[in-house]
Amino acid sequence: MVREILEGGERVSWGAKAIPAGGYWAMPKLTMPGAVLVGDGAGMVNLAALKGVHYAIKAGALAAESIYAALKRDSVDFSSYEDTVEESVIGTDLYEQRNTRQPFQMGLLRGGPLVNLMIATKGRFPGGRWKIHRNDAKPMFIGKTKNGYPKPDGKYIFDKLSSVFISGNATRDDAPNHIRVQTNVPRELAETWAWMCPAGVYEIPEDAPEHGDVDVIVNYTNCVQCGAITAKVGA
Ligand code: SF4
Repeated sequence: MVREILEGGERVSWGAKAIPAGGYWAMPKLTMPGAVLVGDGAGMVNLAALKGVHYAIKAGALAAESIYAALKRDSVDFSSYEDTVEESVIGTDLYEQRNTRQPFQMGLLRGGPLVNLMIATKGRFPGGRWKIHRNDAKPMFIGKTKNGYPKPDGKYIFDKLSSVFISGNATRDDAPNHIRVQTNVPRELAETWAWMCPAGVYEIPEDAPEHGDVDVIVNYTNCVQCGAITAKVGA
């Protein structure tokens, strides 16, 4: 169906962005002396609606009010912002959606109806706090999914490097490397980086061993700041 929609079209631009989908229970502490977190950085995403820009705008306004009030007292304690977020539409909405991520652990068919029930009842049923595993606690493994990936045809499916080229990424070759990672890592981890990164930043040399540790090449100037790897395996 999508193929028919795209027929005869032209790729004019490209970009990538990971969505912070942890929801209400995954939100970090929002303030520290002299600083606040707003929007995506604070996990303010309504997962059911896949929207968060309106929360980012609202959080920015709430942060500005708290910061202004604190500075007038000659203070950098912005902790009142935490409460105002909780009491605002951001807190209310995200609390209602607090468990809509977790049922998908059971798969789409079993989890989907539960999520619909949660949305319809505004989080009341099934209520409580649903558990979810920590991403960084799941061991890495090399599966077979990649064997089913279609090859780039330049028409509907594109290779990573040509996509980065038209992304408008302005990182210069002489800019300092902003990606600080250990480069000698187990092959499972190196492959995870290489497959997850949409911009071809991580490269495993062709002569690298099939098992054990490998030396990863980091093409940092390709990075489009999507945040995918930080979200999954930053820890
Ligand atoms: S290095 Fe990380 S942030 Fe940059 S494009 Fe790759 S996955 Fe995204």
